[in-house]
Amino acid sequence: MQLPEMECPNCGAPVTELHDDNRIRCRFCGTVLDLYRSLCPFCEFINPAETNYCARCGESIVRICPACQHENWAGMEHCTHCGRILDILEIMTRSRTRDTRARIAEQQRDAARIKFEETAQAEARMEQFRQMERERLQEMAATTAAKRRRERQVIAAVLIMLALGILVILTVSILMTSAGQ
Ligand SMILES: [Zn+2]
Ligand SMILES: [Zn+2]
Ligand SMILES: [Zn+2]
Repeated sequence: MQLPEMECPNCGAPVTELHDDNRIRCRFCGTVLDLYRSLCPFCEFINPAETNYCARCGESIVRICPACQHENWAGMEHCTHCGRILDILEIMTRSRTRDTRARIAEQQRDAARIKFEETAQAEARMEQFRQMERERLQEMAATTAAKRRRERQVIAAVLIMLALGILVILTVSILMTSAGQ
């Protein structure tokens, strides 16, 4: 297995030394890494330490064989212990996960859409209420204005009647005074 242009993930020195046990050894800083525990088969990032999950893409670097529980490198197609094909299971798991994710995303979109529609409906109802309230207030104002106008007319009529009454009384008293003389 040759990995050209591979750098030591610890010190950045070019590493060409790959041993038969799939370990790389940096001649500069002495770092020893098991490629089956540091090389991500998905993004090809060499993690600076042996790990189960890639530090760059988060994918699992190990894949546990469902038949014998042996830990394999995630890039392996077969279990190195019992020979069982690993990819098909992996693909099934992945597509199921993707389906689930897609369904959840769909549900979230639906929920957001429903919420938006409900909000719009509620807003429309509120606007209707506000319009009704405005009309009611306008009607009330019109009624009050009409009432005030009628009151003013009544007061005016009363004042005219009073003035006429006073005029009549004055006229009568003047006439009586001049008749008595
Ligand atoms: Zn190094
Ligand atoms: Zn990765
Ligand atoms: Zn196995």
